[in-house]
Amino acid sequence: MADLKAICVYCGSSPGQKPVYAESAQYLGKALADAGLRLVYGGGSVGLMGIVARSVLENDGMVTGIIPGFLAKKEVMLEQAHELIVTEDMHERKKTMFERADAFVALPGGIGTLEELIEMLTWAQLGRHEKPVLLANVDGFWDPLLDLLNHMAAQNFVAAEFVGRILTVDRMGDVLPVLMEAAARAPDRSPLHPADADVLSNL
Ligand code: AMP
Repeated sequence: MADLKAICVYCGSSPGQKPVYAESAQYLGKALADAGLRLVYGGGSVGLMGIVARSVLENDGMVTGIIPGFLAKKEVMLEQAHELIVTEDMHERKKTMFERADAFVALPGGIGTLEELIEMLTWAQLGRHEKPVLLANVDGFWDPLLDLLNHMAAQNFVAAEFVGRILTVDRMGDVLPVLMEAAARAPDRSPLHPADADVLSNL
């Protein structure tokens, strides 16, 4: 069984259109803090990123922000985070987020969120890691992506079984229970599984 200590949350640097997106980010931050799970995220204080991080801090949880130097101003680096890692570039940011987290959650977001989420799925598809990746399908936000993935599977470009295994929840209250169940099924990854080390050396 893999131990869950830190959860990486990918989400928008904007708040999005519907209030439920911000509410979900707020909820997840509190849930992480209450469960004693550290938040690993992109280090900014804008949009849903800022909301989830501030919610963790307000509820006495732990936050690790990982931000490339050139974005520290644009995404208004969250100075109150317990640990702030300033990286050289985007590649190092994603690699460090991967290293520091035991599981990944995607809240609604834009192209950056999509890119980070898809990269974790591609690495899993290639068998380079077995850390859980979960879509928080807030108000059906990820339905178009799930439709696309199912379309790819129907056209034999992705294994239907792989798409079927992508963790998806409709209720925010299910995020941590589903991740914990997935982690309980996953092999132990401590301190660093050779496959994870391999991912990093092949980036
Ligand atoms: P967005 O979903 O576009 O609002 O972006 C969410 C976060 O993803 C922000 O912190 C962006 O800086 C980050 N991001 C955007 N593009 C990339 C990328 N290629 N690699 C890593 N992070 C990215």
